[in-house]
Amino acid sequence: MPVRSEDVIVIGGGVIGASICYHLARKGVRALLLERGGLAAGSSGACDGLVLLQLKKPGIHTAIAVESVEAMKRLAGELAVDVEFRRAGGLVVIGSAAEYEAMTRFAAGRRLDGIDVSLLDAAQARELEPCLSGDTLGATTCPLEGQVNPIPYPCLRNGSSSNGRPDRSG
Ligand SMILES: Cc1cc2nc3c(=O)[nH]c(=O)nc-3n(C[C@H](O)[C@H](O)[C@H](O)COP(=O)(O)OP(=O)(O)OC[C@H]3O[C@@H](n4cnc5c(N)ncnc54)[C@H](O)[C@@H]3O)c2cc1C
Repeated sequence: MPVRSEDVIVIGGGVIGASICYHLARKGVRALLLERGGLAAGSSGACDGLVLLQLKKPGIHTAIAVESVEAMKRLAGELAVDVEFRRAGGLVVIGSAAEYEAMTRFAAGRRLDGIDVSLLDAAQARELEPCLSGDTLGATTCPLEGQVNPIPYPCLRNGSSSNGRPDRSG
């Protein structure tokens, strides 16, 4: 293996390592990604790819989640890899009367935090997701939420093409 001089070595080719490499490369920093298995071999390749907002704790967690959704939208437009980002809105399904009561308060609280969360009754929820169980009493929905395909996402370091650096496995 030829010896190279790098500014930064990043260990782990999941979404976090790939993102660090990508953003370093955009700033002109030479970064080498070391991955012992394959890209997305860990949690990143096994996750649901949901870009969620409504269930984050108020404060810093919500602020980061809002920023993440915006970053995802920007990245989907700038990467050479298609991450299949769809902002179709998310649903939190309600299955009991107690949950319905709690989620009514929850949705009102989220709106006070500035997050667009609506409470849906069973018919409205089923209109958005016809496959919901017959036991569903309702749902909360947040139109800012979306989903990506998590498998190509860690390949985002290649999205910079001219700046992206090849990974090294082993
Ligand atoms: C079932 C499931 C569903 C999930 N659903 C969602 C979801 O819908 N939305 C969401 O936002 N999050 C979800 N998550 C969480 C999300 O997947 C993780 O937070 C995220 O993938 C973590 O990324 P990472 O890069 O830190 O870790 P990883 O993806 O685990 O990457 C770490 C990488 O480091 C490599 N590595 C480790 N040690 C070394 C070493 N010594 N040398 C070289 N390489 C090494 C591993 O092989 C691995 O590829 C889910 C997680 C799981 C398990």
